[in-house]
Amino acid sequence: MASRKNSKRKRAPKSPRKLKARPAPPKKGAPKKKPAPKNKPAPKTTVTLLPAAKKQLAKKPPFNPKHDSANHPDWVAPVWNDDVLLGAHVSIAGGTHEAPRRAKAIGATAMQVFTKMANRWAERICADDECKTFRTALATTLVRSTVAHDSYLINLASPDAALRRRSVESFVAELQRCEALGVGFLVSHPGNFIDDRASGIARNADGIAEALSRVPGKTVLCMEITCGSGTAIGATFEELAALIDGVPEQLRSRLGVCIDTCHAYAAGYDFVKTYDDVWRRFDDVLGFNRLRVMHLNDSKTPFASHRDRHEKIGEGFLGEEPFRRIMNDERLARVPKVIETPKGTDPTATDALMLTRLRGYIDG
Ligand SMILES: [Zn+2]
Ligand SMILES: [Zn+2]
Repeated sequence: MASRKNSKRKRAPKSPRKLKARPAPPKKGAPKKKPAPKNKPAPKTTVTLLPAAKKQLAKKPPFNPKHDSANHPDWVAPVWNDDVLLGAHVSIAGGTHEAPRRAKAIGATAMQVFTKMANRWAERICADDECKTFRTALATTLVRSTVAHDSYLINLASPDAALRRRSVESFVAELQRCEALGVGFLVSHPGNFIDDRASGIARNADGIAEALSRVPGKTVLCMEITCGSGTAIGATFEELAALIDGVPEQLRSRLGVCIDTCHAYAAGYDFVKTYDDVWRRFDDVLGFNRLRVMHLNDSKTPFASHRDRHEKIGEGFLGEEPFRRIMNDERLARVPKVIETPKGTDPTATDALMLTRLRGYIDG
């Protein structure tokens, strides 16, 4: 994830105003709309959107810049009748059971959450009541793939014994909450080695192994590619593979990787110019079987910038084409894809637009 999330987002009061589709008046002197170039046909889509949702999404967000559309009585959640696993990171403000409602409002079939305040050490356990309410809420949605993202503070690679111990305990608690809630995947950022890269990788792998041994279960731990700033581990496919190799073999079936398009591009994998080469390299080093989650984010900063700045899909340095290819790539078809793009003032409308945009890339 880029940084601070909207976990403390205030709920906007309901607006009495109706959402009306008002076409923008033509601007004076504005150039006439050019017909689409012949070599670029408009993307056909195989997905079917219910008519009410289609009408809703034809309006440009923010529908009301002061409010989250999810709280608006007229908001119609988009629903697609396909098997694409696509969704967003959604807030758990108000409790974990509130996340499914937010996922439903954007028509998500995959969902990522934090299971606690991501920038605090304070731990929590998910008691039976909470787990039950979460599962019940989830059952009312079309979400079929659930992902949790671990805390930003955890550094399993740290040479500081106290910090590393604290990180391992926190990481164990992350895994326990995932198991309790029945979350399918836990995405974790590899740590910072600080002193020596090889030692850092070994410490990180040991931490993973300890946590997996202490928390048996089904949640698959996915190490996320980083953008390689400072002493961050995991900015290359080789380092992700080294982390997996550092874990005892009997635990490796519970390990996968998460490819974040923004991080990978910032780390030096050029999805724009060398899409096929990047995935060939990935398959050689890690293998597609290890790819269990994807984060779809455009990048605010240029290629190989080693900076983690997410941008809205198609609006950054990656542009639309890599996402078009990803959405049509059969090798990635069964991998749940989650956006972590800026949400603006209306998270529901903005996320719904991003997901609609991505689905629009799917060729008919
Ligand atoms: Zn990020
Ligand atoms: Zn990410």
